[in-house]
Amino acid sequence: MPKNHPDLHFRELHRLSLADYAGYPELYREYLASGLRLTGMTIGLVVRIQRETCTILAAQPDSAAVAVGETQPLGETWCAAVVAQQRPVAVADAGRDALLPGHAACSQHSPKAYLAAPIWVNNEIYGTLSFFACTPQKEGFSRNDRELIELMARGLSVFIERDQLEQQRLESLHRMQQSIDLFESAFRFAAIGMALVSPEGRWLRVNDAVCQILGYTADELLAIDFQTITHPDDLEADLAYLQEMLAGHRDVYRMEKRYHHRSGRLVWVLLSVSLVRDPAGTPLYFLSQLQDVTEQKRATEVLHKQQRELTASNARLQRLATVDELTEVYNRRAFFDKFNAELERSARAGLFLSVLIIDVDHFKQYNDSFGHPEGDQALRRVAAELERCGRVNDVCARYGGEEFAVVLPDTDEKACLRVAERMRAAVEQISDLRRPLTVSIGCATTVSRHGQQRVVTTEAMLSRADKSLYEAKEGGRNRVVQSPSLVQDPVEAKLTDAAAPT
Ligand code: GH3
Ligand code: MG
Ligand code: MG
Repeated sequence: MPKNHPDLHFRELHRLSLADYAGYPELYREYLASGLRLTGMTIGLVVRIQRETCTILAAQPDSAAVAVGETQPLGETWCAAVVAQQRPVAVADAGRDALLPGHAACSQHSPKAYLAAPIWVNNEIYGTLSFFACTPQKEGFSRNDRELIELMARGLSVFIERDQLEQQRLESLHRMQQSIDLFESAFRFAAIGMALVSPEGRWLRVNDAVCQILGYTADELLAIDFQTITHPDDLEADLAYLQEMLAGHRDVYRMEKRYHHRSGRLVWVLLSVSLVRDPAGTPLYFLSQLQDVTEQKRATEVLHKQQRELTASNARLQRLATVDELTEVYNRRAFFDKFNAELERSARAGLFLSVLIIDVDHFKQYNDSFGHPEGDQALRRVAAELERCGRVNDVCARYGGEEFAVVLPDTDEKACLRVAERMRAAVEQISDLRRPLTVSIGCATTVSRHGQQRVVTTEAMLSRADKSLYEAKEGGRNRVVQSPSLVQDPVEAKLTDAAAPT
């Protein structure tokens, strides 16, 4: 059978494609040897082409003295014709062909004929399978020759592509294994508790820290589910979160929850859970992180308790500082603070402000008759009644022993008189005393011009009210006396004169 008989080609290609190659050198050697045998050419090369550079990967026969690994600019080689035409090239007589000058790689052999095909890998020209002869091929190359080389080059393509895929697969396997190893050691030795939990709640894997936190061995935990050792009060919330994750409504949740430690005590744990799904989206397992926060919890609770106590004692102190212990109305200091503040406010806003001084009549007698404790009780009752008669913003205070003072913001003389009279009558009506008591009340009112800072002093107003109180006592007690209004603005003075009591 002639060497370029198609049957022979077919059988050889079949053998080459089924053979097992230990590696590229063997693969190239086999293909090149077959190619030389079947084409009768002198030298065979496998050339790698990367950008503009050719590198000789293999050469046959060994005696050809071609340096494997040698590189050349693509443009200086006949491979350039294959790259340019993107298909097999067959030149029977280089001297009569329009191809490039001599092939440098085998220049000493002065090739005269060239038969080559591109090796396609992943749709790009990876290199060429090239054969050279030192004498022109008088009969030229047949279609069979071209097809033979093309099919051989394709055989190389298949091997290279398969090998590259295999390399990529091995690399990603290696990377995956590295990730798994990393996760394994992170999981195993994490200071934080880590566990894989099935969608039903069974512990699938637990690390040492989980065992430490919960007091169980890994085997003991793997035999139960997390529900078994969760505090009943925390179970519902935990399960609800898991359901939300399984339903795809959330990716992760964090909660503080209690577990029953193997010893029976409760452990507070900060739990963070995420759900791992397979590529199709089916839930595989929960990845849980557990952090023992029992000590922090305890410390926080102690701190909160201390804060509550501090707030309460601050409130008590605040109250003690402003409230009269016996009667529970404002004390004298708070009265002056508030009176000053109200006076300034009314001066700025140009509002009326009234003050009352209220003195219990003949209280010494009451004390003498029923004793000091009864007197105290009576003072409490009077204070309560005075406060009841006032409005929300009024400031009712114990001014002295059996004397009270009331600041009435935004209250003109008429209104002031009404309030004072209501208070006087209310005290007279107290029925649960050992005997009825009465009070005398002195009133003073002021009004400021708009925008003026303080126009009168608290002392001036109190002195007016005190004077009126004296008059009330002189007048027979159990009565209200109002002093003329303290006004600086003449227009306002006329108004208040008109409003003065008759
Ligand atoms: P007047 O009508 O002139 O005000 O007569 P009075 O007796 O109320 O006046 P006086 O100033 O003579 O007496 C006030 C009395 O109030 C004397 C004091 O024992 C009594 N008193 C003052 N503070 C307290 C207190 O906290 N508790 C009791 N139980 N009595 C007090
Ligand atoms: Mg008095
Ligand atoms: Mg008195």
